[in-house]
Amino acid sequence: MAGRIETDICVIGGGSGGLSVAAGASQMGARTVLIEKGKMGGDCLNYGCVPSKALIAAGHAAHAIRDSDRFGIVAHEPEVEFRRVHDHVHGVIGAIAPNDSVERFEGLGVTVLQAAARFTGKDEVEADGTTVKAKYFVIATGSSAGVPPIPGLDTVPYLTNETVFDLTERPQHLIVIGGGPIGSEMAQAHRRLGSAVTVLEMFAVLGKDDPEVTEVVKRRMRAEGIELCEGIKIQKVLPDGNGVAVEIEQDGKARTIAGSHLLVAAGRSANVDGLNLEAAGVTYTKKGVDVDARLRSSNKRIFAIGDVAGGFQFTHIAGYHAGIVIRNALFKLPAKVAYHAVPWVTYTDPEIAHVGQTEEQAKKTLGGDIRVLRFAFAENDRAQAERETDGLIKVVTDKKGRVLGASIAGARAGELLLPWVIAVDQKMKIGKMAGIIAPYPTLGEVSKRVAGSYYVPSLFSEKTRKIVRFLLKWFS
Ligand SMILES: Cc1cc2nc3c(=O)[nH]c(=O)nc-3n(C[C@H](O)[C@H](O)[C@H](O)COP(=O)(O)OP(=O)(O)OC[C@H]3O[C@@H](n4cnc5c(N)ncnc54)[C@H](O)[C@@H]3O)c2cc1C
Repeated sequence: MAGRIETDICVIGGGSGGLSVAAGASQMGARTVLIEKGKMGGDCLNYGCVPSKALIAAGHAAHAIRDSDRFGIVAHEPEVEFRRVHDHVHGVIGAIAPNDSVERFEGLGVTVLQAAARFTGKDEVEADGTTVKAKYFVIATGSSAGVPPIPGLDTVPYLTNETVFDLTERPQHLIVIGGGPIGSEMAQAHRRLGSAVTVLEMFAVLGKDDPEVTEVVKRRMRAEGIELCEGIKIQKVLPDGNGVAVEIEQDGKARTIAGSHLLVAAGRSANVDGLNLEAAGVTYTKKGVDVDARLRSSNKRIFAIGDVAGGFQFTHIAGYHAGIVIRNALFKLPAKVAYHAVPWVTYTDPEIAHVGQTEEQAKKTLGGDIRVLRFAFAENDRAQAERETDGLIKVVTDKKGRVLGASIAGARAGELLLPWVIAVDQKMKIGKMAGIIAPYPTLGEVSKRVAGSYYVPSLFSEKTRKIVRFLLKWFS
């Protein structure tokens, strides 16, 4: 479609962030153009959250068969038909895709251009011969798998999140470069579906979370047969028959690991190439577009949101950013981002969920004037009933009991996190959580119990005993 369009708002990128802005802006009466060069839905739907969670669900089903003995049900090795697992994953994408489709967005009044956008001036982009002039632009172009500078990596075929979900045959031995959330989730899912799996991580696996909490998950991963190589240096990658070999240095010793497939999950790079941001006066670094707290770039009429804005790279952050941009661009409100209560979940089994400050961060900001509360899932009756006793909830408060952060490793940790997101966001005191009535028997009781532990030292002290004895004596 060649020609010229004048519009109120032009969104570049039809992923989690861009679609939210486009749907909102159009339904609120703004003339809206959306430009998407690939698949509508972006990474989350096509190459990220959705296929990864579908693959994890398949892995979970296989694991349940293998692991049923603890319930008195005879366990056996599941027969995994990888082609059908692939079809399940793509079936899930297909079921959600209509929500993000061109048809749906055109139905909402959005003009959708299916092409790559590139700036030609401060208020103009070009996409496949069409020039779009807009009052506001939103750059929502996301991120791609970062490719580390490892010698030989360009000489072997390797998978990324854009190709791993296309496999129709099970990898015999998957080597994963990168032990962050994506690498760990993919490692466990493939292991449970029958692959041998080795994870290679320069620092610590799941190193962005509290080590006490991640140890619960790493123990499980190792028990399931995943080899976690931490603190290693990759020297070289080379072809090895039909597969790959990775030469590493581990504990000062050289070692070669041979595998059938290599997955690179070693961080993300912001998608800024090809946008010609210089023409628009938009500055950026390799982390992404430079933005202020209102998500405005160095060109105040151009916003950047989601993964391309650097910062936290989650779908819920892209959606949160969309709301900030709508308020700024459409309603002229100076809305700013606040990141004190950003939650995240890693969908390993058990899951890891976190919000706010870790113990280490709180110690740095408050100089040790904090309380750290812990409660083990093994003390929870529902966890016992379901044999899901590997778990820990850890909460950090200031000395007055204000909740600063919470980390959970355990069954359904992601679902358990929400009250703690509210607590951190609202700067709630721990007493509120301790005082609620939690239904029995639920995993959610761990929240009440960990909060209650704040009061244990003073409640069960000699001083309290004296007061109680006094009251019983004189008022009975
Ligand atoms: C394997 C994996 C699992 C993940 N799991 C989770 C999870 O469980 N929970 C979670 O919150 N997050 C998860 N994420 C992260 C999540 O996918 C991203 O944070 C989210 O997709 C970011 O949204 P976005 O709108 O910024 O970018 P995207 O969703 O990537 O969308 C960007 C879009 O812009 C398009 N585009 C790029 N350049 C141009 C151009 N020049 N012109 C036109 N279009 C362009 C792209 O084609 C793409 O469609 C996961 C990511 C991966 C890789």
